[in-house]
Amino acid sequence: MPHLSAGLTAEPPGWQNHRVHVVAIVNRKGGVGKTTTAVNLAAAIALGSRRVLLVDLDPQGSAGVAVGVASAAGDDDGSGGMFRGKPRWSARRSPVPSLALLGVVPADRRLDAEAATPVDNGRGERLAAALRGARETWNIVVVDTPPGLGGLSATALRAADAVVIPAAADYLSTHALQGTIESVRSIERETGRRYAPLVVLPTFVDARRPGAVAAVTLMRERFGEMVSPGEIPRSARYDSAALAGVPAVVGAPRSAAATAYRTACDDLVARLGRKPAKRHGALKGFVRADMREALMTLRSRRPEP
Ligand code: ADP
Ligand code: MG
Repeated sequence: MPHLSAGLTAEPPGWQNHRVHVVAIVNRKGGVGKTTTAVNLAAAIALGSRRVLLVDLDPQGSAGVAVGVASAAGDDDGSGGMFRGKPRWSARRSPVPSLALLGVVPADRRLDAEAATPVDNGRGERLAAALRGARETWNIVVVDTPPGLGGLSATALRAADAVVIPAAADYLSTHALQGTIESVRSIERETGRRYAPLVVLPTFVDARRPGAVAAVTLMRERFGEMVSPGEIPRSARYDSAALAGVPAVVGAPRSAAATAYRTACDDLVARLGRKPAKRHGALKGFVRADMREALMTLRSRRPEP
């Protein structure tokens, strides 16, 4: 497979001894910013001089598109080839010049067939093995997944060392977050691993909408340190960045959209491999009343626009 090793030299001093950290980006819900998060985190990691591989496990193939890499639909060396007994896949280089340290494994046509299998089926182990075999080349692997926690998302979770759950800042998404976290934790128990870290990243945060502010307040209250210090703003920039094939952290580095993902990236990288002393999160009894209360508190502080 045509490796990108030639141009991949940068790496800060002291960076962990050839261990590859696999980060899965998951959420049951679609449209919460998983792909946008995968792409911007991967790009921010690459800009920070670490060699990062972005693996697209969503048959829609959006992650590749968002970094300017055409889908591997007609090829058979995309991410669909990573679960074989003898893996067959290759990393493409993003055409974005400043992303020389980013490799991309785009979705290929075999992913559709894989996605039809609702259970992991041993794929997670094979994916983990394929990625362990690539540890000389990559420091961090970011895996984008389809909505849902079964199928290919379960595969990513079984291969992952760390998990990021992008959660949109609205009532229904915050409500559903509990279920996503519980499912991720049940995979931890089942596989005897502890994600280091398991991060909730608030997305679509609109400071002008009390509902969004209340949702983030509630996430931080309930899930404490699990919640990233990065708050991803609601911004049209992410969509135009996807259209341009250049992630916001690269194309508009001084924008709030980019700054937020850099904060989330720095926090994630600092926490990689470090197990939290204690996980916050009273997971039971997360009810409508909490959101109402958070909203009331906000409204008592400032009038509704
Ligand atoms: P998912 O992968 O969870 O389905 P995407 O990252 O594809 O979500 O985002 C869904 C849509 O919302 C895309 O059009 C994307 O450009 C846009 N989007 C993502 N994050 C934001 C944000 N923070 N603010 C505004 N639009 C966003
Ligand atoms: Mg997506």
